[in-house]
Amino acid sequence: MLTPEQTQEVKKALEADLTRLGDHAHSALEFTMDRDRDRIGRDSMDEATEEETYSTQLRLHDRETFLLAKIREAMERLEKGQIDECEECAEPIGYKRLMARPVTTLCFECKTAREQVEAEERAE
Ligand SMILES: [Zn+2]
Repeated sequence: MLTPEQTQEVKKALEADLTRLGDHAHSALEFTMDRDRDRIGRDSMDEATEEETYSTQLRLHDRETFLLAKIREAMERLEKGQIDECEECAEPIGYKRLMARPVTTLCFECKTAREQVEAEERAE
């Protein structure tokens, strides 16, 4: 189990991630709005480049939305006092591991085991 101080530290790490992602999501939105405003008077070359930038931006945005959901889930687990519990074996995940990766739901052993399975599946 984490101490109340450690729980606070993990919470701070999650909040910092949330703030950072929030800023990104905001600039992605601004980008979309700029794109609409600047549409008139572009040649087709610009359009193609712009299209490419836009889809990259969207992919990035999707990943951020995914990460945002992971952080919210981690916040919920933290509120319920389950942040330090591995979802596979229910063993403690550990403070150091949580600080390095606050959204993780697996202890080191389970994560390693899962990665091995995934690697074997790829090798086939
Ligand atoms: Zn585990």
